[in-house]
Amino acid sequence: MKLALFDDARLGVVSTGPGGSVVGATVVDVTGALPWVHDPDPLTAGWWRALCRDFEGLRPVLEKAAAEGPAVSLERVSLRAPVLAPSKIVAAASNYGEHVAEMHGVQERTLGRVEAWMMEFDVFLKAPSSIVGPGAEVVLPAEVVARGLEVHHESELVVVIGTGGRDIALDEAMGHVLGFTAGLDITVRSPADRSKRKSYDSFSPLGPWIVTRDEVGDGGDLDILLTCGGVVRQSVNTADLLSPVPQIVAYASSIMTLNPGDVVFTGAPPGVGPITAGETLDMRISRIGSMTVSVR
Ligand code: MN
Repeated sequence: MKLALFDDARLGVVSTGPGGSVVGATVVDVTGALPWVHDPDPLTAGWWRALCRDFEGLRPVLEKAAAEGPAVSLERVSLRAPVLAPSKIVAAASNYGEHVAEMHGVQERTLGRVEAWMMEFDVFLKAPSSIVGPGAEVVLPAEVVARGLEVHHESELVVVIGTGGRDIALDEAMGHVLGFTAGLDITVRSPADRSKRKSYDSFSPLGPWIVTRDEVGDGGDLDILLTCGGVVRQSVNTADLLSPVPQIVAYASSIMTLNPGDVVFTGAPPGVGPITAGETLDMRISRIGSMTVSVR
């Protein structure tokens, strides 16, 4: 099932066109099928976290509502980021071998040295307030531009947590995942802490919707493609993840309780590089979908 949020934080079920295309894609508003009063405030949307937690129990009523329609063209709605007020964004670092290798050169250029600790797989946090939806603008901060710092794209498979938990066992990790979406982990290259460099407003575009895990499996065989002006910037298959999705979820939950609706970035593929104002980034992940983000 493809779960979308649109307009005034309405919940939609998306049907894509032939071959998964957005051409001919439709959405059915299933908000009224939920057993709660709808709260359209994106900052207090507890209904969304309840949906993430209880999705499997709610699936039958959502499927029924989606089948009964009415379906409207996706072009007639405004998609939002497919998450609301997550308690945190967890992000994996150094999770593709070729990316770790390229970061030696990136760090020498942007830091003047190589930080060994940044070359190890681990997780860190981004501010949830950095989330924007598909079609949004990434705004380069004036002070960052004024200092001449590089701001990079990292196009990543993103996990949305369903049933949360603490110390989740590896072989049970996928049972705690609601589904997958696409995300850009926009990053300033500077000596500052990751939590600052990756948390500016608009630095976490997400979309276009969540594809539930029954359609994607463990996320270990998906093609990620990022292009800019038709030129390929990043192209990878998630089979190359050093720590696959179940490992990331289990590891992160050994450190912090994962709550329903939490967002987990799985790590940057090789090919990270600078973005500049006026560029348009097109990101797509096979079996999930695509989004287009402009840089201002
Ligand atoms: Mn990243």
